[in-house]
Amino acid sequence: MNFDFSTATQIRFGAGVINTLGIEAVKLGKRALLVINCPGADSSKIKNLLNQAGIDLFIIEVCAEPTIDFVSLGIEKARNEKCDLVISFGGGSAIDTGKAIAAMLANPGELIDYLEIVGKGQSIKLPAKPFIAIPTTAGTGSEVTKNAVIAVPDRQIKVSLRSSFMLPYLALVDPELTYSLPPSVTASTGMDALTQVIEPFVTKKANGMVDIFCRDGMIRAARSLRKAFINGNDARAREDMAMTSLLGGLSLANAGLGAAHGFAAPIGGMFKAPHGAVCAILLPRVVSMNVKALKEREPWNPVLMRYIEIAQILTGSNNALIDDGIIWLADLCTFLGIPALSSYGVTFGDLTALVERSAVASSMQANPIPLTKLEMMQILEQLL
Ligand SMILES: [Zn+2]
Repeated sequence: MNFDFSTATQIRFGAGVINTLGIEAVKLGKRALLVINCPGADSSKIKNLLNQAGIDLFIIEVCAEPTIDFVSLGIEKARNEKCDLVISFGGGSAIDTGKAIAAMLANPGELIDYLEIVGKGQSIKLPAKPFIAIPTTAGTGSEVTKNAVIAVPDRQIKVSLRSSFMLPYLALVDPELTYSLPPSVTASTGMDALTQVIEPFVTKKANGMVDIFCRDGMIRAARSLRKAFINGNDARAREDMAMTSLLGGLSLANAGLGAAHGFAAPIGGMFKAPHGAVCAILLPRVVSMNVKALKEREPWNPVLMRYIEIAQILTGSNNALIDDGIIWLADLCTFLGIPALSSYGVTFGDLTALVERSAVASSMQANPIPLTKLEMMQILEQLL
């Protein structure tokens, strides 16, 4: 077995760990750029903790998915204020924004110089400034990944700023921060977390270490996502989902994803749709098509046994077959009220462009078997 595994320098997990923020932050800097969401979780407590620790705060609010222009303004502000620390408190958009700013604080030039596809694609050469990631949703796992997803509105795409130097210095994962999430956000972010412990389990880069995380994450999400959706104050369910999100981040950063995320990237670029809800509606269809393609073209592929294991973990039945897992996933989407792709404005006329863009998405390359464009089209047609 060969694998490479990297993650945040330190992960601190548990109810109440947010109270250690001041003590940790003061070890890393004196002038912090604080990145928060609007609307978002109540940030008054963390501002107090940082003020009490004697840290000067400069705040930016992320009100939509970060764009090149928005992140560039944040970089300018952090440079002008001579920030030596970046702290993100929010969902994936706040964390990705902070991650990109921390990297650019330590590296010369403009953001565009370092972006794939739309920019020069230069590599980040110097370690990012210290960065603390504090997720307030349980979905992206961005607190332990090395990339920041940035939207390019005029091209209708999203691109990544990516470097091992961008792994956060500290991930503070406090499930209590997720108690106040509304059910719809619990549903979409929770389904992202679940997708992110299923896809890395079957990718071409799956490995023994990530397998452990995926198996545990699937068990936790299977028993707790419905409960967290019904009762946001269910402490055990929230803890399970925060842990699933973290495990998903660890897994995707080290084993990649698959076709559900391969489709979700261009759909998110072309339409205003919650990432997790898009992954959710895609997942059962992607599993079904992957299994069909594997049985037709690679019936010997051991990944088919993995799909049986997924079905058994999700359903809790040792007798479950792959189809039982697919039905379980579809039922979960129904329970959580996950809408069809058409509800975001996706029409049949968009599908050819979506297939073309999905085919070159990085997550699509990690799918357990290459899908034909016809197969990709069939997946999308079923979801309108
Ligand atoms: Zn995702």
